[in-house]
Amino acid sequence: MADGIDALCYEFGAGKSAIREQFERATKLKESGAENIYDFSIGNPYVDAPPEVNESIVHALELPSVDLHGYTANRGLTYVREAIATDLRQRFGGNYSADDLVLTAGASGALTSTICALTSPGEEVIVLTPYYPEYRMFIQAWHCKCIPVATQPTTFQPDVDAIERAITPCTRMVIVNSPNNPTGAIYDEQILRDLGAMLRRKSAELDKTIYLLSDEPYREIVYDGRSNPWVAGTYSDTIVCYSYSKSLSIAGERAGYVLVPRSVINHDRVIDAILGAQRVVNTIMPSIIQRVVGECVGAPAPMDAYTRKRGLIYEGLARIGYEVVHPDGAFYLWMRALEPDEDAFSDRAFEHGLLLVASNDFGIGGYERLSYCVADETLAGCLPAFQELWDDYGGYTW
Ligand code: PLP
Repeated sequence: MADGIDALCYEFGAGKSAIREQFERATKLKESGAENIYDFSIGNPYVDAPPEVNESIVHALELPSVDLHGYTANRGLTYVREAIATDLRQRFGGNYSADDLVLTAGASGALTSTICALTSPGEEVIVLTPYYPEYRMFIQAWHCKCIPVATQPTTFQPDVDAIERAITPCTRMVIVNSPNNPTGAIYDEQILRDLGAMLRRKSAELDKTIYLLSDEPYREIVYDGRSNPWVAGTYSDTIVCYSYSKSLSIAGERAGYVLVPRSVINHDRVIDAILGAQRVVNTIMPSIIQRVVGECVGAPAPMDAYTRKRGLIYEGLARIGYEVVHPDGAFYLWMRALEPDEDAFSDRAFEHGLLLVASNDFGIGGYERLSYCVADETLAGCLPAFQELWDDYGGYTW
């Protein structure tokens, strides 16, 4: 008998992501008392939130209950959006205002509302491999096609010619993510400008707007004083999706936003469509967390901690002989597997207590992702296990 279960929703729920599978595997092992488990699966910041976060929660608790716990406007409290807009203007120039912002439940809420609002069933959304696996779900949920396009080998920078070749009359959007999860690459400003110029030309040629969606949860997590280009400054039809999960270490609180710059064509209609999508999927930022964001906008990311963690794992693995991409941003290490079958490699790593995420979920083969926002002891303690794994294989087999 037909049970009415939606096939896509079922697939998303029953088929867990490789990241979650490894995370749950590690959690079960730890709960059963197993020792020497090195869990590099999930990007859950293991760095304290800045003191301002807890202080602002205490301030919020002083508000009258009906104000604090009542509904807010769907787009978020005005003073919070004003604080964010001021911060953006100070850092990136532009004329951003509260009216350009919609507060959301994390970047996930921002991404899914934006894709819902700006696509029609059957349209295509281009993602660059290796890509954050949830994009596939956010795109397919709205009956659009996820079109993977390879980045440049070794640098993992966007390949503008390859993106152009993938554009068809059905293309509606290109998603970029810099600093990148999983490679740690920061996209080069000139390449972004070339991408913008190409999208402008293709939009005119196809007589439709092709949006650039810039997913920026790691915007502030940038090493060695490198600069991180402001993507919205390179193409007028850029929509920015942001998250406080990583910069403030508050991933469980669900805080993010969509920024629709004034330069975006039909700006007000775009904002209204995103608000409409939000009503449907209800990705509104919780009231108390809006107030936290209002007080913590501009708090610096904990770069000392992440720089130390990057050094421990990157140098440790490179010393053994692993081919690892030096991350310029975010907190992931992208490592070439010792054998071409990345699933077989992560199973073998698991035998040594190492929980890595195989690259096929990110749209390419032969790599593993390590999330190094974990305890320093894990980063130092795992190296003997990585050495044993290396010795098991006798180094690279391919
Ligand atoms: N985009 C990328 C590239 C991410 O890595 C993540 C989370 O890890 C997200 C979006 C979702 O972030 P949020 O926790 O704000 O929903």
